[in-house]
Amino acid sequence: MKTIEIPAAAGRAFHTSTGQAFRIVTPHGHQAADFFAFNAVNIDESLSPNHTLVRTRCIKPRQGDVLLSCYRRPMLDFVADHAEGVHDMMIAACDPHRYEQLGVTQPHASCADNLRTSMQRLGYVVKVVPQPINFFTHTKVESDSAFVSPPNPVKPGAYVELQAKMNLICAVSSCPFDVKLPDWTINASSGPTELMVEFVEGKVKSNNFLI
Ligand SMILES: [Zn+2]
Repeated sequence: MKTIEIPAAAGRAFHTSTGQAFRIVTPHGHQAADFFAFNAVNIDESLSPNHTLVRTRCIKPRQGDVLLSCYRRPMLDFVADHAEGVHDMMIAACDPHRYEQLGVTQPHASCADNLRTSMQRLGYVVKVVPQPINFFTHTKVESDSAFVSPPNPVKPGAYVELQAKMNLICAVSSCPFDVKLPDWTINASSGPTELMVEFVEGKVKSNNFLI
């Protein structure tokens, strides 16, 4: 099985062809995976959680959902969820401004920078960071509409399986968030850990993935 390791707090982008299935795995659990996807022939068309939830009528991605682009076209099938539904489509990617506003004085890795850097490695410039789907991210809307992120319950080895419905460039960021905030946990208290992308054999029409 071909795999890509995404180091803790870093990001990687890769090509996937129509029909290619792949898994995003959190080997240690409790680690948010910010996921982005772009049409390989026009990166202005990106995966859009906001457009998707209007179709699915759910603020969480669920197994069996078709994930839509900002042009409302099918981009990916959410084939299998082995993380018990612990995902988020609401939180914007963390970025240098977020950490600066939280009082971090040193340069800090972020999902936005991880996306931009990993896409640049493949020759693409991302001008606007799209809303990601945040797999393995525990958010809840309370009865008073308060929005919270309780401790992350995702178990070691949990994964999601996606299948491309068009030729895509995908990017995954191991969210570097490690700031201690009340009711806002995101990752394991011990800090970010690596993620894996595993390409599923037998569900491959062609695979010209690049790191
Ligand atoms: Zn992040």
